[in-house]
Amino acid sequence: MTLDLALNMIYVVSAGLFIYGLKLLGSPATARRGNAISAVAMLIAIIVALLDQSVVDYRWIIGGVIIGTIIGGLAARLIAMTSMPEMVALFNGSGGTASLLVGWAALSTHNDTFSVVTIFLSILIGGVTCSGSLIAYLKLSEKMSGKPIIFSGQRIVNSILVLAILVCGVMLTIDPSNLNYLYAVIALSVLFGVMAVIPIGGADMPVVISLLNSYSGLAACAAGFAVNNNILIVAGSLVGASGMILTNIMCKAMNRSLVNVLFSGFGAVSTETTKVEGEIKPISVEDAFYILEAATNVVIVPGYGMAVAQAQHAVKELQLLLEKNDAEVNYGIHPVAGRMPGHMNVLLAEADVPYDQLIEMEEINPRMDSVDVAIVIGANDVVNPAAREVESSPIYGMPVINVDQARTVFVLKRSMASGFAGIENPLFYKDNTRMLFGDAKESISGLVREFG
Ligand code: NDP
Repeated sequence: MTLDLALNMIYVVSAGLFIYGLKLLGSPATARRGNAISAVAMLIAIIVALLDQSVVDYRWIIGGVIIGTIIGGLAARLIAMTSMPEMVALFNGSGGTASLLVGWAALSTHNDTFSVVTIFLSILIGGVTCSGSLIAYLKLSEKMSGKPIIFSGQRIVNSILVLAILVCGVMLTIDPSNLNYLYAVIALSVLFGVMAVIPIGGADMPVVISLLNSYSGLAACAAGFAVNNNILIVAGSLVGASGMILTNIMCKAMNRSLVNVLFSGFGAVSTETTKVEGEIKPISVEDAFYILEAATNVVIVPGYGMAVAQAQHAVKELQLLLEKNDAEVNYGIHPVAGRMPGHMNVLLAEADVPYDQLIEMEEINPRMDSVDVAIVIGANDVVNPAAREVESSPIYGMPVINVDQARTVFVLKRSMASGFAGIENPLFYKDNTRMLFGDAKESISGLVREFG
């Protein structure tokens, strides 16, 4: 058996482990094992790639491993849990950048037409992922406005950009030795990434995050073709395909089509005219406790504010006390709550909340009118009834958790500030809503003390 055949067979084993790991990631109960198995598969793939005969000098690789380990280690230690979504966005960007660099480097050794086309694709998708993710990072971390940036003639500018990229790509394929075409493709792709993400904002951001995740996989897949590495092709396609599936789930969660998200700009077609009626009714921790004490059916709806307050452990404590008091407690989980897919599930799993108490939006909504108290913890956009009631609202048509149908709603937040989409929420003014102002962790801990 030749070394090449042996290496490829080991690649098949690691590809199988990737697929099995992905399958296990599908359920919270097996997700940790799935993660570990995929990590082992990646380790095998890396070791096998290093044994490849075409690796002639290990010094750069060792340098890269050391620098990458330091950056990864520092990022994992220093970055607060609340900044995790931004970090995920940056990591997507790193994947794209890596594929761009692989494509760039591959041009010096591969210049047949097929290789140059795949090199072009890995640079194009990698470049778009790199700068697009950077813009997503800036938007998520609020270093730039989360609102869509739209100007007249934007589509024409973007179309010209795409055309220019394609022309340079064709020229590069015809004459791979002319590096000016290569530099032009790199620069235009990076610019296109910026142009593609700036018009997307507000509640549409989850779609962008999952789409960029998918692009990072597609870029890796193209890079795999460029350097003729089978495991990179397989792993890249798996990331690309799962990212696409996630993008589809996110679009459904927003009730928007992908074309609509990419090209229309969130809220660009409707001007916010949500008229709020009624008045704000604040409630104290003591009064909230009396109502909760009498409740037999409670639904907790967490949102981004729970992540900010790091209230998940206090929430679990409250859940146990309510259950001790004979109430049934469930969690209503909206697919885009928080700032990254699965954000709430991760936080609640950290606090050991049982998975079977996490109920998805479609399942919890029909039960909402039999709920005594809905406790909204730092959620805003995902419980906004304007999505059902106000046709002119930018989120009109987006499915939300119908907490307003519960007998009483407690909304835990610090102020009357709006959520990520920047729109008014009529929930706060409804007759059955009580606002429990303050940091969510402090408010929940206050309720826990009252029960104690
Ligand atoms: P929102 O961003 O709509 O609202 C969060 C609320 O939490 C704010 O109104 C804020 O009010 C409150 N809050 C913040 N800090 C605290 C605190 N310490 N204690 C109590 N409350 C606090 O969150 P949702 O989860 O409802 O909605 C998610 C939004 O983010 C959607 O628009 C979604 O599209 C978007 N998004 C989601 C992504 C994903 O993948 N899940 C990715 C990118 C964007 P106050 O300041 O008054 O306390």
